[in-house]
Amino acid sequence: MLSPTPSAGGDALLVINAGSSSLKFSVFRTRDDGGVTAVINGQISGIGTEPTFEAKDTHKTPIGAKTWTAGEKADRTALLSFLLDWIEEHLDGARLLAAGHRVVHGGSGFAQPVLITDAVLDELEALVPLAPLHQPHNLAAIRALAEAHPELPQIACFDTAFHRGQPWQAQTFALPREMTESGIRRYGFHGLSYEYIARRLPEIAPELADARVVVCHLGSGASMCAIHAGKSVDSTMGFTAVDGLPMGTRTGCIDPGVLIYLMRSRGMDADALEKLLYNKSGLLGVSGVSNDMRVLLDSADPHAAEAVELFCFRVAKEAGALASSMGGIDAIVFTAGIGERSAPVRARVGEKLAWLGVSIDAERNGANATRISADGSRLPVWVIPTDEEQMIALHTRKVLALAGV
Ligand code: ADP
Repeated sequence: MLSPTPSAGGDALLVINAGSSSLKFSVFRTRDDGGVTAVINGQISGIGTEPTFEAKDTHKTPIGAKTWTAGEKADRTALLSFLLDWIEEHLDGARLLAAGHRVVHGGSGFAQPVLITDAVLDELEALVPLAPLHQPHNLAAIRALAEAHPELPQIACFDTAFHRGQPWQAQTFALPREMTESGIRRYGFHGLSYEYIARRLPEIAPELADARVVVCHLGSGASMCAIHAGKSVDSTMGFTAVDGLPMGTRTGCIDPGVLIYLMRSRGMDADALEKLLYNKSGLLGVSGVSNDMRVLLDSADPHAAEAVELFCFRVAKEAGALASSMGGIDAIVFTAGIGERSAPVRARVGEKLAWLGVSIDAERNGANATRISADGSRLPVWVIPTDEEQMIALHTRKVLALAGV
């Protein structure tokens, strides 16, 4: 159902991933088998300054471009109105059924994607303090689209939802109960990516349908998830997306005592700490060279090598912790930018997990093969490209069907 078999025909679904100054979009066509096929990808960047629109077909051939000049109206509503008009001109007569949005935070309440109403929007607004860097932009796009096209159904798909079934221990900090009840708990993120992998893995390896799998989503944002029989059991990201692994510019988990020390000894306030934890740390902070794994791997600077080593050390360490959460481990999956394309990182993590029975085949790994473990490896290791947009399109289709829209 998830395989991207190209086919024309069917209705259309728009998928939106809105950030602070850019908005990525994809258009999918529905298939008779219940699946969806991507037909257009694109983005509007420079929102708030000098917006630029570009769109490509599935062969990566440019099929649309525009830059807004200073005098032109280019607020979010105007941009989304343009986008919808452009898409409708490129649908070959298909009907646009709905827009599905990636929304970073669904709190404790939203364990499933949901059709957006005013009441839902109010609930999502109340979660802004939990994800101040992402949630406001996700909601701004929803509002702008509602203003431009009030008749178009919109569906919110959450990065947190896949983790809501985790055992309570995995979702709870050892804080006073009242604080946990007020919502200070571990939510987990990258849920749309993990859900996609959880559905895709049994298609590739049916014997792993009920298995205990550690999935490593290693992109510029990076996290890992323990998935048992297709369900999230534990994850490395917690209350916010800064927990867990070191990332491009984020620390990952850090002794909270460091933050108290920095407040007292260096007079750092919340804004300064936020900048430090989110923007100045991780691969960039350790290397002093770059937040980009490709640049670090190509660099001769010993600090770049240290950043890569620290990253691999932490991935391997978390794999051990997540295996423990599942009472064992049957497979490992790598995904996202680094996970899908960086053979040296996968090889190094594999070496560190030799004690678990991991053995990586150098040739398969170098070729980014789907299965990169050696034939004798006790644990199979897979590389599966993630597709959060497809997951959102599938959810959007399902929610529409359930709502009878
Ligand atoms: P996100 O979606 O979180 O912004 P991606 O999943 O696109 O991030 O991953 C971005 C990361 O992937 C960057 O650190 C980039 O260096 C890394 N990356 C992409 N291609 C390669 C490659 N061929 N080798 C190593 N790292 C790569």
